[in-house]
Amino acid sequence: MKILCIGRNYINHAKELNNPVPSEPVFFIKPDTALLRNNDDFYHPDFSEEIHHEIEFVVRIGKLGKNIDSKFAHRYIDSVALGVDFTARDIQSKCKEKGLPWEKAKAFDHSAPISKFIKASEFEDLQNIEFSLKKNGEIVQLGNTRDMIFKINDLIAYLSKFFTLKIGDLIYTGTPAGVSKVNIDDHLVGCIEDREMLNFHIK
Ligand code: ZN
Repeated sequence: MKILCIGRNYINHAKELNNPVPSEPVFFIKPDTALLRNNDDFYHPDFSEEIHHEIEFVVRIGKLGKNIDSKFAHRYIDSVALGVDFTARDIQSKCKEKGLPWEKAKAFDHSAPISKFIKASEFEDLQNIEFSLKKNGEIVQLGNTRDMIFKINDLIAYLSKFFTLKIGDLIYTGTPAGVSKVNIDDHLVGCIEDREMLNFHIK
């Protein structure tokens, strides 16, 4: 499986990093070794001084597809989850300066914590879901999927032009504002509406 991640999909986050608001989706891929499941501890890697949390709404693909029309894209989603796109911001900044790829900063081991999955059919409208991240008991990120620049169905259509989407592939749909550095001993809790989805520690 592969993890497709969307960058700069919320205006307030693009602005906080002084990035232009994109005219088409920005995306990158993480390998399956990036996944961190079951609320396992995240061990802070020593190659970075500045790992940022990015809380993201995640959809899982339930049907093989290529060149999917956005009208039919909803049929390709089987479930949803909450994920963190851990980003080595210091490394990413250097990559950006030099015009180099971001993999070192984005795709390292355990850079993609993922919650349990909930059937997509349990939600009336995937494009109106609140999600949040608490760091040490304080809300640091609060978003709603309605604020995405590129909506989920359009993301599926766009990504499937380049990649065959396979059952089990995950799409991390971008982060709202409020990203910040994590430190050893931090405690992160992520919620989709009232449901606690993530609850783990930085070690
Ligand atoms: Zn992200």
